[in-house]
Amino acid sequence: MTKRSDNWAPATKLVRGGTMRSQFGETSEAMFLTSGFAYDSAEQAAARMAGDEDGFVYSRYGNPTNQMLAERLALLEGAETCRVTASGMGAISSAMIAPCSAGDRVVAANALFGSCRHICSTILPRYGVETEFVNGADLEAWKRALSKPTRLVLIESPSNPLLEAVDIAAVAELAHAAGALLVIDNVFASPILQKPLELGADIVVYSATKHMDGQGRVLLGAILGQSEFIEEHIDPWLRHTGPAASPFNAWVVLKGLETLELRVAQASANAAKIADAIADHPNIQAVRYPGRTDHPNFAIHQKQMSSGGTLVAFSIKGARAEAFKMLNALELVDISNNLGDTKSLACHPCSTTHRALTDEEQAEMGLDESWIRLSVGLENAGDVSQDLIQALNAL
Ligand SMILES: *Cc1c(COP(=O)(O)O)cnc(C)c1O
Repeated sequence: MTKRSDNWAPATKLVRGGTMRSQFGETSEAMFLTSGFAYDSAEQAAARMAGDEDGFVYSRYGNPTNQMLAERLALLEGAETCRVTASGMGAISSAMIAPCSAGDRVVAANALFGSCRHICSTILPRYGVETEFVNGADLEAWKRALSKPTRLVLIESPSNPLLEAVDIAAVAELAHAAGALLVIDNVFASPILQKPLELGADIVVYSATKHMDGQGRVLLGAILGQSEFIEEHIDPWLRHTGPAASPFNAWVVLKGLETLELRVAQASANAAKIADAIADHPNIQAVRYPGRTDHPNFAIHQKQMSSGGTLVAFSIKGARAEAFKMLNALELVDISNNLGDTKSLACHPCSTTHRALTDEEQAEMGLDESWIRLSVGLENAGDVSQDLIQALNAL
């Protein structure tokens, strides 16, 4: 029996949700490192494969550790069903490609994680799916783009790397009027700070590699939504194309989830302090943090996110040479394109995560060579601020 109560608070869901004990009564969730499952009889094998009897048949289809994780995530998100995949991109590509057919149309915000953008700009069109990008913060642009029948809408809020807000409830309404499903990549907010399904989104996707593992160890992804959609579109896709999650990685993320709320709360509090600590530095041009009133989309973030989150973007006075000089002067913060780790990590999006975009595409997102993205971890906020300030002083 799995433990499940929709009335539990998030902290309880994160520690107890989805737990299935074996006959040994272990307290910590078991790791089922098995590819296959044995049957009591040939009749049982036939019944399982036909779907007439519940039970596991093969780990590409399902695995007990992966199922515990999926149930915990569904409970936390308030979703009917969850499936876990080998990586965040495994989840997002499956959620985008599986429901689409040649002739369909997809509308996406232009500020997206690089690989999500590549799926929309390059992969989907090769299979006859038309895609259009809009400025995610511009509701009039959404209205124009969604005046035609559309299959899917993809957004990210806050977006990578400039933490732009998309008004989830407003875009959900426009998407539904166009016959589209709203898919949201909720990685930057995490399920602790933002509840897209309550705001009208249909499908939520995660890179659990980020805050859910939260300690920089494994790759994993998740797709959450209504059972009908998952069973009709996602299950056949996952079974036959095979982006199955490793049960080892699923176990690591299950254990990571137990501390997710504590970690996200602390890292967000640190991020707010660090954003304020560097904002007035003479070598800073702008600080972009969803929790600061000077964020261009502050009102929308306030409406849909319960705190400013764990990421900060800042623009230094200068361009690539100065940005590199500042990164190279960091002594505590690591230069890394990962995020959502206990360790604070900084990167230069133009030359790393967003290097594949053309100059025009970068300009459309407001991105230029002066921007640095900081993922705030669990070190003391004063120590991280001091490190950033000494690196800014070096300019
Ligand atoms: C990291 C990330 C992804 C991709 O996840 P992987 O687990 O690396 O495949 C997708 N979207 C966002 C916003 C991310 O930060």
